[in-house]
Amino acid sequence: MKKVLSIHQRGEGHWVGDGFPVHSIFSYRNLAVELTPFLLLDHAGPAQFEPTEKPRGVDWHPHRGFETVSIAYEGEVDHEDTAGNRGTIRSGDVQWMTAGAGVLHKEMHGRDYAKRGGRFEMLQLWVNLPANTKMAKPRYQTLLARDIPVVPLPGNGGAVRVIAGEFSGATGPAQTFTPINLLDVQLRAGHRLQLPLHNGYSAALYVMKGSIKVNDVDTAGETELVIFERAGDDAVIEAASDATIFVMNGQPIDEPVVGHGPFVMNTQEQISQALVDLHHGKFGNIPA
Ligand code: MN
Repeated sequence: MKKVLSIHQRGEGHWVGDGFPVHSIFSYRNLAVELTPFLLLDHAGPAQFEPTEKPRGVDWHPHRGFETVSIAYEGEVDHEDTAGNRGTIRSGDVQWMTAGAGVLHKEMHGRDYAKRGGRFEMLQLWVNLPANTKMAKPRYQTLLARDIPVVPLPGNGGAVRVIAGEFSGATGPAQTFTPINLLDVQLRAGHRLQLPLHNGYSAALYVMKGSIKVNDVDTAGETELVIFERAGDDAVIEAASDATIFVMNGQPIDEPVVGHGPFVMNTQEQISQALVDLHHGKFGNIPA
């Protein structure tokens, strides 16, 4: 059994561009050791956007040294980057971008969604890369809802969507650089779920909706983050009300984490180099 290490309230709300009203759920600035390889989690919305002809979002900006993983719950996001990749994610889809050596990208509300308006809710998770792959070639994966396996829970207790790694014999479609399990769990009120969590891996869960009891001892409410000890190979959760839970479980990357805005590297020198490379156009050219 993995014991609960700590439970955290979400941070202050802020805007990313004009399209993403987010709360910070965690950041490597204070939880790098406990949560490696996971660097950051932002929860956008739930929010309501009015129809517009001019999609909101966040314009061209760089990343280097890690991956951004966006999970769409409601609304749409268009992605375009200087490695030549583009894609749209809608409710249930996941966008997994490996910045690696560096890209510029923009993240905008999808054109159709912007015209229509409506509810918007996303998660964005940053996943670290080991030192020897931080300068990997950029990569982009659109993981469509229909390609993400859904494991129903017994007794109409809900369902587990496997985005990366494995759950109950189902394998998620994400290609990852280090072993990672990401699960999107719906657990109905009164139901219990035994979560397999690797011994020695970092593990945390974020309660997006509802409230749960963990290991029959701790209570976690809506928008709270539960961090587990590395030791132990499972945890039991029980939904006090219908709950949506995002589960993160990964092999630790025990290397120095030095971050500066959209760059996460191992040393200050590598951060300086990223700024020089950005200035010299090594993150690619913005399409006309
Ligand atoms: Mn970005």
